[in-house]
Amino acid sequence: MSAEKLIKEALEIMGDASPLNFDCGTLCERACCVGEGYMMVFPGEINLLKNNNYMFGSKDLISYGRIQTVTCDGTCNRDYRPLSCRIYPLAPKFIGEELFVRLDVRGRPTCPLCHKSMSSLNPEFIEKVKKALTHLAKDEDLLRFLKAISNHVDMFAVPFI
Ligand code: SF4
Ligand code: SF4
Repeated sequence: MSAEKLIKEALEIMGDASPLNFDCGTLCERACCVGEGYMMVFPGEINLLKNNNYMFGSKDLISYGRIQTVTCDGTCNRDYRPLSCRIYPLAPKFIGEELFVRLDVRGRPTCPLCHKSMSSLNPEFIEKVKKALTHLAKDEDLLRFLKAISNHVDMFAVPFI
């Protein structure tokens, strides 16, 4: 199965699940949308992102290689937003070969949810993110990408003082 097909299926799994049972953007004035930065484009996802006014780029991701990135102007057609945005503020975490999800510590400077515990998030959202990422991990390249993200996020997981 192609990576693009798996991405489409992962999007279906996610549906409209969101971190809280209300718009969490009201807690932070949509900090993750209006802030600086970029989103990582999953392998096979690029063609699904064409219906927005995005800017594309590329970066090196340690232990994976060159990846495509996307930035926005703080607005988007939510039906076509990147998978990275849909799963935020969660990120993959591998322990051995087992895939878990955890709060994305890269969001600590801006996202209030990253200072809470997983139990404060909508359980359905957590479950769907895990299911979607587990689905993607069926593809060898996507699995390698997810493991690289896991390592990348680990590098930010230093104790917060
Ligand atoms: S920064 Fe966090 S709380 Fe704010 S909109 Fe993004 S995910 Fe929700
Ligand atoms: S693409 Fe959409 S959801 Fe993602 S950061 Fe931009 S405005 Fe927010």
